[in-house]
Amino acid sequence: MVDTSRVAEPVVPPSGDRGWSRSEPGSPVRALPFILVALAALVSLAFGALQRPGALLLAGAFAALMVAAFFLPWRRLPPAAQDVPPLVSFVVVMLLRVAVGGSGSGVGTLALLPVVWLAMYGGRVALRLAVLATGAVFLGPWLLVGPPAYPATDLQRGLTVMLVAGLIGISVQRLVGTLQAQTTAAAEAARQTAALAEQLAAVARVRHSMQVNQDPREVICEGARDLTGAAVGFLLEPRDEQTLHRTAGVGFESSSAAVAMDPARSAAAGCMLSGRRLFIPDAAGDERIAENLRSQVDAVSLLYEPVVRRGQVVAVLAVGWRHAVTPSEAALAAVSLMAIEAAVALEQADLLDTVKKLARTDQLTNIPNRRAFDELLPDVMDRATPSAPLCVALLDLDHFKSYNDTFGHPAGDQFLQAATRAWLRQLRGTDIIARFGGEEFAVVLPDCELHDAITVLDKLRSNTPEGQTVSIGIAQWDQQETQQALVQRVDTALYRAKTDGRNRLHCAA
Ligand code: GH3
Ligand code: MG
Ligand code: MG
Repeated sequence: MVDTSRVAEPVVPPSGDRGWSRSEPGSPVRALPFILVALAALVSLAFGALQRPGALLLAGAFAALMVAAFFLPWRRLPPAAQDVPPLVSFVVVMLLRVAVGGSGSGVGTLALLPVVWLAMYGGRVALRLAVLATGAVFLGPWLLVGPPAYPATDLQRGLTVMLVAGLIGISVQRLVGTLQAQTTAAAEAARQTAALAEQLAAVARVRHSMQVNQDPREVICEGARDLTGAAVGFLLEPRDEQTLHRTAGVGFESSSAAVAMDPARSAAAGCMLSGRRLFIPDAAGDERIAENLRSQVDAVSLLYEPVVRRGQVVAVLAVGWRHAVTPSEAALAAVSLMAIEAAVALEQADLLDTVKKLARTDQLTNIPNRRAFDELLPDVMDRATPSAPLCVALLDLDHFKSYNDTFGHPAGDQFLQAATRAWLRQLRGTDIIARFGGEEFAVVLPDCELHDAITVLDKLRSNTPEGQTVSIGIAQWDQQETQQALVQRVDTALYRAKTDGRNRLHCAA
C-alpha cells in the first residue's frame, strides 16, 4: 500500500528545510565533536599552563551546558534553536584560549569544529555567524586584552582563520545541500514509482475482475480507497432520473442505500449532475451528506469523482477519510484513474448482463427460454418442501401447423405473443412461464398443491386467444426424482392429453 499520509496530506519535514532533527536516533553522535571540545578543556586543565582558572571554569560550564543541550526535545523547539549550541561552542573555545595561555595556546584552531558542524547540519545564517565567530575568537581577546598575551599577529591569524572557515564552510554546505537534494529526489522518484506500481496493480485487478466476469464494482471501490489512503470507497449509480443507488462499498458495513437526485441534499447528486469532482472537507457541517450516510460511512472528508462514459456521467465514485484531509495531487489523479477504469468496467459489466439476459430470453415472446428454464428449475426444486410443493406443466398448442397454414407464419407469431400475454395474466408473480420450444410452453408453479395447479392451468387453457385450443400435461414433483425425470413425466402426460383428443389437461401418474 502507498504511504497513506503522503498521499492524503503534504508531509512537512520535522525540522525545517533540511529534513533532519537532533532528536532523531543517532543524533547524539553529532554531539561528539563538542564532547571532544569539553574533553580538551579538561586536558588543558590537567596539562596546560593554566593562567586564568576563572576562564577555564566558565568554559567548562558552557561546554557542559552545550553538550547537555543536545539532548533536549528539539522537535518541540523552533528549528533555528538547534544552531545555538554550536554557536555557544565559540565562546567555550575563546574562554579556553584565554584560560590556557592566550595566543600561543593553539586552542584557537578548535573554532573550525563548529564551522564544519554547522556547514553540515545548520542553516545558512548560522554558518555566516559561525564564520564571524571564528574571527571573534582571535580578534576579541586581541581587542580587549591586547599584547603581550595577544600580539598583533592575532589580527592576521583571525582574518586567515575566518577566510579558511568561510571557504570550508561554504564548500561543505554546498556539498551537503547537493547530496541532500539528490537523496530527496531519489526518495521522491522511488515514492512515485511505488505509487505508479500501486495504480497499475489496482487497474490490473479491475481488468482481471472483468476478464473473469466478476462484478468489478467492489474492486473499483477498493482500488480508489487504497490508492488514496482513504478509509472507505463507494460507488453510486442512477437507478432512474430521480434516484442514485449505492451499488458497492468497501471499508464499512455497506447496505444498499438510495439518495434523491438533488444537489442541495446530496453531494453525489451534485457531482452526477454537474459532471465535476466535488470535495467535502468536513461532512459534519454539510447538508449535502445525508445523516444515514454519515453514520454508516463515518467519514470526515469525502471526495466525489464523476464516472464519465462518452461524455455522459454514468456513476459517481467516492472515497472518504476518517479525519480531515486535503487530498494531494496524487490522490486526485488516482481517483480519476479509477473513475476512467470504472467507466470501461461498468460498460462491460452492463453489456455482459445484457448478453446474459438475451441468452436466456425468448426473442419472440420476451419470456425465459428453454435454457433459462433448465437453469432455474433446480433452484425452484431446492426451495420446494412437502408443505410447499412444486408443480410443473407443459402446454402445446393444438394443430398449430394448420393455424400457420391458414393465417400465415407472421400471424402465427403474433398469436404466440398474444397467447403468452393472456396466460401471463392468469399467473402469480412467483410463477414462471417459459417458451419450451416452437408452440410448446412450460409453466412452473412453486408452493402450489396439484389441485390448485390444475385449476390455474385450466384457466390458462380457457384463456387461450382466438378460440384456439391447447393440450396440457402436469405433474407435482415427488421431492425425489431428478429434473429430467420430472420433465419426462410431464411430457408423457402431455402426450396423453394429445392422444386422448387434445384441448384437455392430463395429470401425470
Ligand atoms: P399438435 O396438435 O399435434 O400439436 O399439432 P401441431 O400442428 O401443433 O404440431 P406440429 O408439431 O405438427 O407442428 C407445430 C407447428 O408449430 C409447426 C410450426 O410451424 C409451428 N411453429 C413452431 N414454432 C413457431 C413459431 O415460432 N412461429 C410460428 N408462426 N409457428 C411456429
Ligand atoms: Mg409441438
Ligand atoms: Mg402443437
